[in-house]
Amino acid sequence: MSETPYPYDAPASQALFDRASVVTPGGVNSPVRAFRAVGGTPRFMVSGKGAYLTDADGREYVDLVCSWGPMILGHSHPEVIAAVQEAASRGTSFGTPGEGEVALAEEIVARVEPVEQVRLVSSGTEATMSAIRLARGFTRRSKVIKFAGCYHGHVDSLLAAAGSGVATFALPDTPGVTGAQAGDTIVLPYNDLEAVQEAFHRHPGEIACVITEASPGNMGVVPPHPGFNQGLRDACRENGALYISDEVMTGFRTSRAGWFGVDGVRPDLMTFGKVMGGGFPAAAFGGRADVMAHLAPAGPVYQAGTLSGNPVATAAGLAQLRLLDDAAYETVDAVSERIRSLVTEALTKEGVAHRLQTASNMFSVFFTDRQVRDYEDAKRQESFRYTAFFHSLLANGVYLPPSSFESWFVSTAHDDRAIQKIADALPAAARAAAEATAA
Ligand code: PLP
Repeated sequence: MSETPYPYDAPASQALFDRASVVTPGGVNSPVRAFRAVGGTPRFMVSGKGAYLTDADGREYVDLVCSWGPMILGHSHPEVIAAVQEAASRGTSFGTPGEGEVALAEEIVARVEPVEQVRLVSSGTEATMSAIRLARGFTRRSKVIKFAGCYHGHVDSLLAAAGSGVATFALPDTPGVTGAQAGDTIVLPYNDLEAVQEAFHRHPGEIACVITEASPGNMGVVPPHPGFNQGLRDACRENGALYISDEVMTGFRTSRAGWFGVDGVRPDLMTFGKVMGGGFPAAAFGGRADVMAHLAPAGPVYQAGTLSGNPVATAAGLAQLRLLDDAAYETVDAVSERIRSLVTEALTKEGVAHRLQTASNMFSVFFTDRQVRDYEDAKRQESFRYTAFFHSLLANGVYLPPSSFESWFVSTAHDDRAIQKIADALPAAARAAAEATAA
């Protein structure tokens, strides 16, 4: 039986979860899907169409997760599906170069001006891992600065969260990552340029790169303060380090050119994933040609992948990117704005203290009355209110991220009907948030 206050109302999902839990650790293939932060039965989805997902019990939800970002055109977009079917009909993997990967690389280079060359990989984790290796190989230095609350995939050296204070050497925050792997990682508070200056001062000639989410979405949405990314750019240049902007989440979502298209700060290297794969495992890293020239086989830094540039994944990604014109971004931005104002209205009406933070069309709600500038602020939110809010919306057919530390994602497919369904569900959810009490 459920150990949460939320009754089972998804018997088919529960049966699948029980089966999955026998053969898969925790019953899922990526931890957040297990609903541990909010409790209850994770919904097993069987299909998606436009703004909607349908679960194994036949219930339909307006999807505000969009596969954690990739589905910016909604689910099963006919042109993306057609491109996938056409590519698959010619074969699913060759292990040779192919035209699709050239075309996808050209599309990325054309959209994101600092990217002169790009290497395709299969996941965002691979992209950041490879970019870090390249930065270390290029600079012949070993230390990496990252920010607490920024997630860059499950790269060993980046699975280190903040210690307190400034310029703390990270302790690994998962068993299996050794002190040596995390020991070259310096974790700093987000939005704190002084801490960055101090770290460079303390480690002259040792820091290979600074990696940051272009605009963080993995502690909830916490955008960079004006001048923060530029300050990182300048600090890197002054100290001979590379500036790596992780756009796995923001890339091709927050604008045609991702967050670079919003703030114009020029990184040395960038990482991409999610939207560029059209719902398939495709990701990339790229940037300055002189840095990328150090990558094998052009240069000595090794990097490879059996399925890199996979023809079906690249066809999906290319079809999706080609559909993402200015009008599409205007639509996504407008959808985001409509949903944000509905959320604010509902929570305000119930007197629930909250901050709705936005980065272009990405947004999230923190149950706190204070601005959230970094991970410590994010952790101070009243997450128990999110749990109540989440479950009320779920029961009424709206699927939110099952954690208060995640961005919400919308798509061009969120039409009036989908938005009305959210509007109808919000008053009860806001009431549930208002009435929630800490466990
Ligand atoms: N970087 C960022 C900013 C991300 O949001 C993620 C995933 O959410 C990753 C890297 C890792 O990508 P993947 O899950 O494809 O390995």
